Amino acid sequence: MKTAEFPQIIIAIDGHSSCGKSTVAKEIAKKLGYIYIDSGAMYRAVTLFALRNGIADNEQVDVPELIKRLPEIKIEFRFNPENLRSDTILNGENVEEEIRQLPVSQHVSPVATIREVREAMVALQQEMGKNKGIVMDGRDIGTVVFPDAELKIFMTARPEVRAQRRYDELTAKGQQVEFDDILANVIERDRIDSSREVSPLKQADDAVILDNSDITREQQLDWVLQKVAQLISA
Ligand code: C5P
Repeated sequence: MKTAEFPQIIIAIDGHSSCGKSTVAKEIAKKLGYIYIDSGAMYRAVTLFALRNGIADNEQVDVPELIKRLPEIKIEFRFNPENLRSDTILNGENVEEEIRQLPVSQHVSPVATIREVREAMVALQQEMGKNKGIVMDGRDIGTVVFPDAELKIFMTARPEVRAQRRYDELTAKGQQVEFDDILANVIERDRIDSSREVSPLKQADDAVILDNSDITREQQLDWVLQKVAQLISA
């Protein structure tokens, strides 16, 4: 596929935690020459800000305080030529590593239930996608952020499969983690994400489902590329 031949469309990838949305999204963006935006990184960056400033601790979030301080939070993405990935920048600081660690994972879902936080992030995401040619992954991209996205994919996999992948990823980075803690976190994030009042995780009516429990990375990439090709040739 030649990127130049591709019209600029919006590809929205939503789904459960740790099912490889960002892996697919990055690969597709690279193939099509599109911008990739990890919307979860934005909620993680807000959570890190809250943790560092004593606004969130022991699973309690001081909601009024976080809302008051939202204007102090500036989130950007910066291309990193060393590893060819896009790093998350919080108020000028590269926080890409820190936002992936368990303390942030354990607090991010409650932070992401706050209406004002979501409104601020959604506005930023819509601005990033205004010229199309973008792949964005998250929980509400096809339902709230880009309800008119040309391609919507809803990804999932069995919780044990997702926890095992996350466990392998973190231990490969040398982090000391327990499989059971990761599994509990995956299940808890699904529960909060699906049951929250504002923009709950749900499949858009016009999304196609991708369950990758039993398929390889290559197979899933082919599957998505086929969907893109069908759409573009239609
Ligand atoms: O995608 P990731 O797992 O890194 O996202 C972290 C958390 O951010 C999710 O568990 C979810 O609570 C929240 N999130 C969200 N809406 C999005 C993306 C992420 O609520 N669009």
